[in-house]
Amino acid sequence: MTNTKRLILILADQLSWQQPALQDASPNTDTLVFAEVAKEATYVRHNKHKIAFLFTAMRKFADQARSKGYSVCYFSIDQQVKTLLEAVQNTLSSQPTCDAVHVCEPGEYRLKHEMLTWSDKLALPCVIHEDRRFLCSHAEFKAWADSQKTLRMEYFYRGIRKRLGILMDDDKPEGGQWNYDADNRSGWRNKDAVPERIQFAPDKVTQTVIETVEEHFSHHPGDLSQFRYATDSAEARAHLEQFIQIFLPHFGQYQDALAEESTTLFHGLIGLYLNAGLLDPLEVCQRAETAYRANNVPLAAAEGFIRQIIGWREYVRGIYWYYMPGYASLNSWNANTPIPTWFWTANTQMRCLHKSIQQSLESGYAHHIQRLMVIGNFSLLAGLSVTEVCDWYLAMYVDAYEWVELPNTLGMALNADDGIMASKPYAASGKYIAKQGNHCQQCFYDPKLTTGPKACPYNSLYWRFIDRHLESLSKNPRMSLITGQWRKRAAEERDSITQWADQILERIESL
Ligand SMILES: Cc1cc2nc3c(=O)[nH]c(=O)nc-3n(C[C@H](O)[C@H](O)[C@H](O)COP(=O)(O)OP(=O)(O)OC[C@H]3O[C@@H](n4cnc5c(N)ncnc54)[C@H](O)[C@@H]3O)c2cc1C
Ligand code: SF4
Repeated sequence: MTNTKRLILILADQLSWQQPALQDASPNTDTLVFAEVAKEATYVRHNKHKIAFLFTAMRKFADQARSKGYSVCYFSIDQQVKTLLEAVQNTLSSQPTCDAVHVCEPGEYRLKHEMLTWSDKLALPCVIHEDRRFLCSHAEFKAWADSQKTLRMEYFYRGIRKRLGILMDDDKPEGGQWNYDADNRSGWRNKDAVPERIQFAPDKVTQTVIETVEEHFSHHPGDLSQFRYATDSAEARAHLEQFIQIFLPHFGQYQDALAEESTTLFHGLIGLYLNAGLLDPLEVCQRAETAYRANNVPLAAAEGFIRQIIGWREYVRGIYWYYMPGYASLNSWNANTPIPTWFWTANTQMRCLHKSIQQSLESGYAHHIQRLMVIGNFSLLAGLSVTEVCDWYLAMYVDAYEWVELPNTLGMALNADDGIMASKPYAASGKYIAKQGNHCQQCFYDPKLTTGPKACPYNSLYWRFIDRHLESLSKNPRMSLITGQWRKRAAEERDSITQWADQILERIESL
């Protein structure tokens, strides 16, 4: 505890009492500042669900702070502060005795670099604390990355798991294997019912925010009549508890599935809570491990879920900070085709895309396979503009922040980062989507056909992608089987497929 009087700025995705800027804060001396800044919500057209979720959660966290005795300066959207810096300056002018500004580092390179200039602009020390809510520090990731030839997630994950002692049997992985993905790949065959999720009907605070969001962000995507997200940590924990008990046992099995009947299947729907600070990643993983050790969850499900959090989530954050700012402008396949307007309307006859985009627009959520293998895969195969696709993902999802969205979109889905994240592109034809679920049964197109008016567009676009990048893909041992198959086909057949794909791209707006 210090005697200095501090101004602590809390960003909308830092709503945790464990966050470092609050570690030795005191209600006796410190003032907490929160700001709803239009610019931060509009530099891409963020989904109304994301804005409503964050503003509500921030208002409720500020109320908690008041009840703990803190002095709070809260700038609502109606007060029209233009930047976070302006919010800090306004507070300082009413609290001239503050002798330092403290903030937990933001999850976006642009904002962090803006903040690095604040000490000069404010003529006051501005202390940016490293975000210890993550399980791997910048220094640890850098040391690991510097020691590797290629940055494969699997090896990163093993190191973190050992260090944290999660799902370990002494120094061996629980069950003898590190990874049970091979058990986790069932397609959806309409056999199991998906239980109802716990829903949080909007209370007074939420309802007020919803009205404000409708007023200020009316042209953004999102149907707020469907808003049922948790908006404080108690609700987020209730959501997690239901997930662990009812959904987690099937998480692994249906992790890669696609279903007409369910927008969420057995996924956690916890990304928004983890990323905003309402849930703690380590606690979430420990809860999943406890459920496994109590024989309530199969090992493959618990391991698969924990890997997403201590593995993928930490790894993509590490990649982001290790490679920024250059990472954002990578474009390995020179993909520049504008995204079709139906990305903003879901108005396409391709059933898998229609369903995935529609739920993204309406609720701000799509699960990983929809993001990666439906929307991302199409974007990769069609050569859609990397910048436009990344902006679309950042705008669309309720859990989207640049540190996690960018590596996932640019690196994993679009494979635009020269293979930093993935050893081969996640490119697939319509057969993959047909195998993983039941969208194709309701589709205008046929996943078995490659050319002709009823042919699934993914098929010819897949081969066009292979054909256009044949030389560089052939050098990748993991792609050589496919490139070899393509080379063996008759020249006329290859031409007819690639010409058909070219025609498809010419009428992409009407697919
Ligand atoms: C193109 C693309 C864009 C994405 N954009 C985002 C994004 O903006 N924000 C975001 O949090 N995730 C993003 N992801 C990763 C992943 O799809 C989401 O975390 C997940 O779908 C969130 O839903 P869930 O909570 O139901 O996840 P679950 O399937 O239940 O997984 C549990 C948790 O594991 C973590 N996780 C799983 N996969 C990843 C991953 N690849 N990277 C980071 N964390 C992961 C998340 O915290 C997630 O909540 C993206 C993936 C792709 C392919
Ligand atoms: S046929 Fe093709 S476009 Fe239609 S749902 Fe299947 S994969 Fe998607």
